[in-house]
Amino acid sequence: MKICYLPGDGIGPEIMAQALRVLDVFQSEGMKIEREEALLGGAAVDATGEPYPPATQQLARAADAVLLAAVGGPKWDVLPRPQRPERGLLGIRKDLNLFANLRPAVLYDELKNASSLKPEVVSGLDILIVRELTGDIYFGEPRGITVENGKRVGRNTMIYDEDEIRRIGRVAFEAARKRSKKLCSVDKMNVLETTQLWRDVMIEISAEYPDVELSHMLVDNAAMQLVRAPKQFDVIVTGNIFGDILSDQASMLTGSIGMLPSASLDENNKGMYEPCHGSAPDIAGKNLANPLAMILSVAMMMRYSFADETTATRIETAVKKVLAAGLRTGDIFEEGMQRVSCTEMGDAVIARL
Ligand code: NAD
Repeated sequence: MKICYLPGDGIGPEIMAQALRVLDVFQSEGMKIEREEALLGGAAVDATGEPYPPATQQLARAADAVLLAAVGGPKWDVLPRPQRPERGLLGIRKDLNLFANLRPAVLYDELKNASSLKPEVVSGLDILIVRELTGDIYFGEPRGITVENGKRVGRNTMIYDEDEIRRIGRVAFEAARKRSKKLCSVDKMNVLETTQLWRDVMIEISAEYPDVELSHMLVDNAAMQLVRAPKQFDVIVTGNIFGDILSDQASMLTGSIGMLPSASLDENNKGMYEPCHGSAPDIAGKNLANPLAMILSVAMMMRYSFADETTATRIETAVKKVLAAGLRTGDIFEEGMQRVSCTEMGDAVIARL
């Protein structure tokens, strides 16, 4: 396994260090892992003047998988846009053609009080949102603000071709196959022709996956159902803009951003794996960050890029055991639990592994 890892900024290096310790365990057991560090985001701007420098491009392209912690911080927010850390993030996603974004929203039973919903509504929640990441109204042309007949007009274009829909659809059906074989495709086919095509193509490819039960839901209803009865979903597949909104909504059902990993994949299951949270500059350098989203990103990497379900489950089980033992970093702390640092949380996961 050739892994390129990018610690990035803020709490990034602290949480990445814990993820690397997890890889150390597997390496000591004989797993063949080659890993190389590279710069992305603010750290890259400081060292080279660019947020996604050529040396990082080379390593990321040559790797089988990329592990990213987080980028960004107030220090770089004053720079011209092309030099901002976020450009590095968009740059690497585009460069590696990572069109499929997988975001699980899992509520660990031990953390059910962290959700804003009633425990009985969310307890046992485990859903996966598959979002198309490189098309839709975010990239469609024409776009822009123009003046027409003396008035300003804003314009964006919602567009998908059938190949784009088919490739994200296949990722979602494959993911559903590895879970409970239920896939819900979210669209707005009653109003938007682009999403009528989306639904038509989803139905066409469902013939290739007779073992997966496909259903459809309009996006407004999906938003409502996600807070009314989220456990009715297993895997959801949707376009870029709907997925942007629904995946944030779903992740917040779990109430703890420090727990949520994500994967962004290309057509060959090469992927970039990263926590859903940012670089948390407010707690950077204090050994306070929750490293679990980063460690769970390693589990996703094992599952999706290396098809190693056993190792993925082993990491996830270790994390569950640590939570069951009452260990909590500050972001998920509750009265009666044991407050631990970032490195102590890492120690605890390693011990369970
Ligand atoms: P954030 O996710 O970094 O932080 C939001 C809040 O959650 C903060 O209070 C932070 O302390 C807390 N938090 C986040 N992750 C945590 C963890 N692992 N453990 C404990 N607490 C945690 O979001 P923000 O403050 O809006 O953004 C900070 C910087 O991160 C900005 O520069 C932003 O652009 C960047 N950002 C990067 C990514 C990414 O790299 N993918 C994503 C979002 C934001």
